[in-house]
Amino acid sequence: MILRGVFVLCGCLLVLAGCASNDEAMPQIVYSPSSERTARPLTLIERPPKKQAVNVNEDVPTNWLPQPIVEKDWTAIVIHHSATENGNAAIFDRIHREHNHWEGVGYDFVIGNGTDSGDGEVEVTFRWRGQIPGAHCGGTPGNWANEDGIGICLVGNFDRTTPTARQMQALATLVHFLQKRYKISESRIYGHNSTPGARVTNCPGAKFPMSKLKQMLRL
Ligand SMILES: [Zn+2]
Repeated sequence: MILRGVFVLCGCLLVLAGCASNDEAMPQIVYSPSSERTARPLTLIERPPKKQAVNVNEDVPTNWLPQPIVEKDWTAIVIHHSATENGNAAIFDRIHREHNHWEGVGYDFVIGNGTDSGDGEVEVTFRWRGQIPGAHCGGTPGNWANEDGIGICLVGNFDRTTPTARQMQALATLVHFLQKRYKISESRIYGHNSTPGARVTNCPGAKFPMSKLKQMLRL
C-alpha cells in the first residue's frame, strides 16, 4: 500500500515537471498516470502556474534556467554587438541607465570578450532573471522583439573585428539551449539589423558570422 502511494506520487511529480505543451487551447488540467492495473478513473490535477517551456535536461549553468513561476514563452532570439571594444553587463547597465534612461541593461545575456569579463563568459542580466521585456530593439515599449525576443549581446565591435572563438562557442551553446527550450526555429534567430520591424542599424556588425553560427547550431 505504501509502495503504491509512492508510485502515484512520483507519477504526479513527473506530470508537474513535464509541462511540455505549448498549446494555449489545452484545458488547464492534466491527467495523472495511475499505477493501478484496474480500470479506475484517472485523477484530475491542476496545472502548476503557467510554464510553457520544454523541460530540457542539458548541462547548462543553473542561472540560465528561469524560475518556472515567471517564465515567458519566448519566440525569437536577437543577436547584438556592443559596438565597443570592451564592456560587461554592469558597464552596459550603467550606460543604459544614465544615457538611455532605461531601468537597466537592455539585454538578457551579455557574452564577454576577455576585457571586462571573461572571454566567452555568459552574464545573465536582471531582465532574464525577472523574465521582463528587453530594451534591445529600439527600446520602444510594445516592440515585439523586445517583448518576445531574447536579446543577446556580444562584447565587441564586429564592424571592425570578429567575435572570439570562445564567444562563438558560448553563443552557440546558449542559442542551442534557448532554441530547444522555447522551440525557436532557425529562421527566428535574427541579427538586430535583420529583425523584422527593427530600425536601420549595423548591429551586430558587418563581420558578425551569422552563417557560421547557424552552421554550428546544426552540428
Ligand atoms: Zn543591436
